[in-house]
Amino acid sequence: MHSGCIFCRIAAGEIPSKVVFRDEDVIAIEDVNPQAPVHVLVMPVAHHPDIVDLSHCADATMMAKLFTIASRLGHQRTSSAGFRMVVNTGPQGGQTVDHLHVHVLGGRPMKWPPG
Ligand code: AMP
Ligand code: ZN
Repeated sequence: MHSGCIFCRIAAGEIPSKVVFRDEDVIAIEDVNPQAPVHVLVMPVAHHPDIVDLSHCADATMMAKLFTIASRLGHQRTSSAGFRMVVNTGPQGGQTVDHLHVHVLGGRPMKWPPG
């Protein structure tokens, strides 16, 4: 738990959020500023600044779990219409909150290339 980290504080229940999934390892919340009709953030409860940090862990279980839950939520919320998963990483990747999270976006057609 990093007390200066907004997502750690959400995971700890100190800051309110709309929780759509939670277990001991992973929490998923509605994005406060949604960019699509479906916009969920899936993150580890434990603080990892970004996906590179998590990739350095010897145990890949959390990486697998994050994407498994993100995939299930994306499918549940958009059915066969499809969805997009995004992991912004670092300043040029557009990351603004330094606690790893997977964006799950859907409910409208997605453009490519992204901005
Ligand atoms: P990123 O720019 O990839 O780091 O994404 C950070 C995301 O967190 C943005 O889409 C924000 O809208 C979202 N966000 C920031 N604060 C909160 C919050 N308190 N509750 C839910 N989502 C948040
Ligand atoms: Zn954190």
